[in-house]
Amino acid sequence: MPQLTVDGKTYALGDKESVLNCLTRHNISIPHSCGSGICQSCVVRAVEGKPTPASQKSLKPSQRERGVFLACSCVPEEDLHIQLGDEASRTFSTTVLSLKKLSQDVMRLRLNCPSDFKYRAGQYINLHHPVAGTRCYSLASVHGLDPHLELHIKLVPQGLVSSWVHNELAVGNTITISEPLGDCHYNPDKPDAPMLLIATGCGLAPLYGIIRDALHNQHRGEISLYHSSRSKTGIYLYQDCEGLQAKHENFRYIPSVSEDEKIPDGLHAGRSSDLALQQHRALKDYQVYLCGEPEMVNTTKRKAFLAGASMSAIHSDPFVYFSPTN
Ligand SMILES: Cc1cc2nc3c(=O)[nH]c(=O)nc-3n(C[C@H](O)[C@H](O)[C@H](O)COP(=O)(O)OP(=O)(O)OC[C@H]3O[C@@H](n4cnc5c(N)ncnc54)[C@H](O)[C@@H]3O)c2cc1C
Repeated sequence: MPQLTVDGKTYALGDKESVLNCLTRHNISIPHSCGSGICQSCVVRAVEGKPTPASQKSLKPSQRERGVFLACSCVPEEDLHIQLGDEASRTFSTTVLSLKKLSQDVMRLRLNCPSDFKYRAGQYINLHHPVAGTRCYSLASVHGLDPHLELHIKLVPQGLVSSWVHNELAVGNTITISEPLGDCHYNPDKPDAPMLLIATGCGLAPLYGIIRDALHNQHRGEISLYHSSRSKTGIYLYQDCEGLQAKHENFRYIPSVSEDEKIPDGLHAGRSSDLALQQHRALKDYQVYLCGEPEMVNTTKRKAFLAGASMSAIHSDPFVYFSPTN
């Protein structure tokens, strides 16, 4: 079994054990969040030995050359000597401008946009919590249109960071965020392509930003947004999306609930992904965006591909979260 050396101590890796799991099993503290190779908060550097290709594939070539890799995605095939820290993504200090409840359990957090923070709506940042580490949140604001950064944060029962945002964070507080990450954003090179956007819950955050970015860029193709939640209380930004629909002929908004027995006026019955794929059966030439619940995102990605969308035209962010059992 390969061995892992860190800070002068050597540990035996378990069968098919990732570097992250080996470190946490030995109570070695390392920033981590999603545990699935998405948030990039668990970057470490190999000073001896070769990290697996899977643990480096989403990193920049310059990082790969330096031996940087994602601890959660690396199940070593040979002994590794690693160095912790100092390789994390660039961070920015920012202040809380406002906190506003958009629904019973979704908080809109607006932050001061640092002067050299360049991003595309729909990308995400890592929000640093002083004790819990980092969590990813998607950017609902549009660079060049909104002066602030906007995040929509859903309260997760017993969730450390979401409950901190909902219950403790206050206007004027200083917090740390990472540089923008990910590539789920509007593509201005395809102004006539139809866009199909499907969200559950706070998956609306990146899609709301992407839609406003597209409309701001005078996108000419049809834009269809399907947003669902289990119950009506999870449908937020309803008035704002209706307002966009009234203003832009090429934008359609289809909000729905999947578990309420009585369907409230203005909403449809069913999951956003089911409704979207029933109403859009052939997706050749579409740009497809999928955000929110991981199961919905992964299943719909396959279905969208089978309906004719090319893989490079399917943009997605599954909101994976770290669970000791995943
Ligand atoms: C790319 C990306 C973008 C994201 N964007 C957003 C966003 O815009 N808005 C947003 O609200 N969240 C978003 N998330 C999810 C977010 O990063 C956190 O996972 C979430 O806020 C929970 O963090 P927490 O610290 O409150 O909970 P934790 O303290 O991490 O978890 C507490 C407990 O709840 C469980 N848990 C955590 N999340 C869930 C869940 N969704 N369903 C069921 N159980 C759960 C955990 O396994 C754990 O047992 C995104 C995730 C990714 C990967």
